[in-house]
Amino acid sequence: MHPHLQPATRFLIIGAGFAGASTAWALAQLGEGPGLILERESTYGVHASGRNAGLLKLSEDDPIVRTLGMRTLGHFGDIGAGEPDLVRPTGGLTLSPASDGSTVDNIVDALRRDGVPAEHLMVEAALQRFPFLRRLSPDAFDAALWCAAEGVVDVHALLTHYLRTARGGGFPLRTNSAVSDLIVEAGRVVGAETRDGIVRADVVIDATGAWAGRLGRASRPLPLQPVRRHLFVSTPVEGVTRALPFVWVDGAEFYFRSEGNGLLLSPCDQTPSEPCLPSTDPAAAELLADKLARHAPGLGDLSLRKSWACLRTFAPDRRPLIGADPDLPGLFHVSGLGGFGMMTSAAVGELAALVLTGRVPDWIEASQLRPGRSLTA
Ligand SMILES: Cc1cc2nc3c(=O)[nH]c(=O)nc-3n(C[C@H](O)[C@H](O)[C@H](O)COP(=O)(O)OP(=O)(O)OC[C@H]3O[C@@H](n4cnc5c(N)ncnc54)[C@H](O)[C@@H]3O)c2cc1C
Repeated sequence: MHPHLQPATRFLIIGAGFAGASTAWALAQLGEGPGLILERESTYGVHASGRNAGLLKLSEDDPIVRTLGMRTLGHFGDIGAGEPDLVRPTGGLTLSPASDGSTVDNIVDALRRDGVPAEHLMVEAALQRFPFLRRLSPDAFDAALWCAAEGVVDVHALLTHYLRTARGGGFPLRTNSAVSDLIVEAGRVVGAETRDGIVRADVVIDATGAWAGRLGRASRPLPLQPVRRHLFVSTPVEGVTRALPFVWVDGAEFYFRSEGNGLLLSPCDQTPSEPCLPSTDPAAAELLADKLARHAPGLGDLSLRKSWACLRTFAPDRRPLIGADPDLPGLFHVSGLGGFGMMTSAAVGELAALVLTGRVPDWIEASQLRPGRSLTA
């Protein structure tokens, strides 16, 4: 063998975040190997997949995201058998302004149709059941959606589970292995170039998160936009326990959940960015302080002990891209997982694995997520 030619494989997955790891996990579970995962960093989860808020928030507006989330929750039941603390079942509260009242009802109905208990609570009822909400200003919301099936996921345990299962099924992970370019022969992607040489594969899967849609498509990248978001962790807050439901305040756009006896919070900032590991911007702390002062005065004196920023990557219609490249045979995409890539990961991996192996899922219309669909905002 040529010294720079690595052994060929069937599925070459680039990126060891939730997109790549769950695709490898699902292929391995179908017995469809072998494959290889290449990760540029020295370990997995360095980017969005290891730095997200861990919310399992099923009360989503978009039915596609909801379907992927519900399906993933089903998989969590099986995964949780081996990972007992995978999901902390805190429940979730989504607080909405009056103008969103009918949206709340629609989401409650949709969740109930899928067998997930959900309730539309008026302000007084919400305050009575969840006294912690009294720390918010009286005009912070007009309605609350309570979903007991929501919670907080141990993201490290989940990502590790996917990669461990994948390895067992013939998909090892190779770290410190950046793909610099794809190998294209006679118009077909046949492998990828790394600093250790070329790896040939039947299919190359671009699961590179914020970098996605560029490999092999230098002159016409897929329309994916990374946006930076900050998270903050506070010192202990009176009354906060691990069981506190997460609170998502829709109108004012901020959220918090418990982190130990303190809170993890985000001001829901979204600043377009180039792909990178972003540094923090003091303006985000000011934005959070401003939102808390106006909408959650009972939390106004929080002291923050830690912060970080990371990128969420969206297609124009804010739905994932899962499927074959529209132009380049041999290339497949699992990307655009936005702000829901952890809680939809098992379904995203399952869908990718089914499409990759020529199967047709009966729980989602796969064409809705094709990268070649008409992509408009
Ligand atoms: C602040 C924040 C909060 C969030 N909160 C939640 C939440 O509560 N719930 C939820 O479900 N989702 C949440 N998300 C979204 C979720 O984290 C992402 O959707 C998900 O992690 C994306 O996974 P990914 O695998 O596509 O990307 P990534 O995790 O970025 O993984 C891509 C990997 O590809 C690697 N890579 C890139 N280029 C190359 C290359 N050329 N060669 C080799 N490797 C390469 C990268 O190093 C990286 O490890 C949040 C995101 C952010 C930023």
